[in-house]
Amino acid sequence: MPLPYVEEEFNIDLTWKNLEKKEEPPSYVNIRRNIYLVKKKRDDCDDDIGCTTCTSDCCENCVCRVQCLSCSKACRCSETCKNRPFRKEKKIKIVKTESCGWGVEAAESIRKGEFIIEYIGEVIDDATCEQRLWDMKYQGTQNFYMCEIRKDFTIDATFKGNLSRFLNHSCDPNCMLEKWQVEGETRVGVFAAQSIKVGEPLTYDYRFVQFGPEVKCHCGASNCQGFLGTKKKICKLDLCWGSKRRRTSASPAVIIV
Ligand SMILES: [Zn+2]
Ligand SMILES: [Zn+2]
Ligand SMILES: [Zn+2]
Repeated sequence: MPLPYVEEEFNIDLTWKNLEKKEEPPSYVNIRRNIYLVKKKRDDCDDDIGCTTCTSDCCENCVCRVQCLSCSKACRCSETCKNRPFRKEKKIKIVKTESCGWGVEAAESIRKGEFIIEYIGEVIDDATCEQRLWDMKYQGTQNFYMCEIRKDFTIDATFKGNLSRFLNHSCDPNCMLEKWQVEGETRVGVFAAQSIKVGEPLTYDYRFVQFGPEVKCHCGASNCQGFLGTKKKICKLDLCWGSKRRRTSASPAVIIV
């Protein structure tokens, strides 16, 4: 009676395959630059104004640096000036963590203040953001990859992004997000808040905004609040805008691509 035997084997095989499949990170489309689902808007910046007093390498008081502006052609500094992040990413890798799902760890040592990786995704407006959040809530989604930068400018790495979407939250993080202007474009980078060794998990403070049910925090930090209290991974960035830079209030038109 060979038939039931075969069937049983087949079932075992399927189960095994399913188990194996669970060990792969959830799928997403890997992209290298932000994809704009809103009209790409250059902030009213004057491209011609760079740092003109810096000579070779820009230091802490460089006018570009204090405004979180990446040095550009308009600057007199050298091409190798350190105030040009977003050029070279650090080596990082995705790992399965004990209690925080998938995470990212350093694959090379990183010094304090160094640029690690850009936070990349689809740039969406507030209406699209809200719609997606409701969809996720109904679907019972546990992982949120949205980073709200300003009105009508949320970077959503849910569907498209890079490894930065796997960084976990910690109440005592070793990374921070910074908003920069790079040749007129707003870009968000993950930077090292302290020196980081090879194999160390990379984390930042999500600064959640209330959206779904409370979720337990597993970051293990001594100052951990225990609960994230809030669920939506939307970080409000209030960083680094120079006083000369005005924000425009005009809402960009939505372009569905
Ligand atoms: Zn400079
Ligand atoms: Zn420079
Ligand atoms: Zn400069």
